[in-house]
Amino acid sequence: MGKPVLAARNLHCGYDDFAVIRGVDLDLLEGEFLGLIGPNGSGKTTLLRALTGRLRPTSGDVLLDGRPIAQIPRREVARRLAVVPQISSPPFEFTVREIVAMGRSPHLGRLQAEGPQDQQAVEAAMALTGISGLSSRPVTELSGGEYQRVVIARALAQEAPLMLLDEPAAHLDIGHQVEIFDLLLRLNRGEERSILCVSHDLNLAARYCDRLIAVSDGAITAAGTPSDILTAEFVGSLYGCEVRVDADPGGHIVVTPLSRELDGVGAR
Ligand code: ADP
Repeated sequence: MGKPVLAARNLHCGYDDFAVIRGVDLDLLEGEFLGLIGPNGSGKTTLLRALTGRLRPTSGDVLLDGRPIAQIPRREVARRLAVVPQISSPPFEFTVREIVAMGRSPHLGRLQAEGPQDQQAVEAAMALTGISGLSSRPVTELSGGEYQRVVIARALAQEAPLMLLDEPAAHLDIGHQVEIFDLLLRLNRGEERSILCVSHDLNLAARYCDRLIAVSDGAITAAGTPSDILTAEFVGSLYGCEVRVDADPGGHIVVTPLSRELDGVGAR
């Protein structure tokens, strides 16, 4: 694992007077697959938005390749860093291909038409995410899972060496979840893309990520390999529930939340 390609230094940010992220230090190392975990409302999306340069810190810095991201022109940032935001409603009047082709805009001059290299990147991104057959469909007519793959394809078409993803598998069935995480892993291992991925699914995070960072109440409470930090005690305290932690036959951590009703936890 190489040098930090994206870093937060004593980062504070939030919305108006509302402080969300409070003093975060974080490094995404070159070639790393890093997972961000933590309960709802802990600040993961806010942190990700600050790391993309979209949300200005109230204090502290975000450094892209060692330079303050706020000082780097947006197009240059977009050539280095692709973002898959949390799924929102699809914009009107665009086809799947048009949305994916938007990923090429950081590589094109103003009013410059797509060249063969751009077309190739768009076709490849659609093929990798399994949406080539949907190419001319309006995005408003897609299922949540299909649209999620379109947004991932747009980020792939961007051909940026860093990818930041907010819950990329949230709307996908288990087959498509594994497909997307396998794709991310191939990009990570084969092309050495550095990946930072928010995941609510601890089992996917444990299987695919080199390292996990846990966020609670706007601060980092733990960082380490999945087996280092995903202990029953830590996960239970992070999410406020009881869990069982096992290892699968491949040695990966499996976290099972325990139920009051079915497992009788908490009933004393
Ligand atoms: P997470 O991604 O971990 O669920 P978020 O970063 O979305 O957490 O939210 C952290 C806190 O910031 C929450 O209390 C949430 O209500 C608040 N928040 C998120 N987005 C906004 C916004 N646009 N304006 C004001 N508060 C927000």
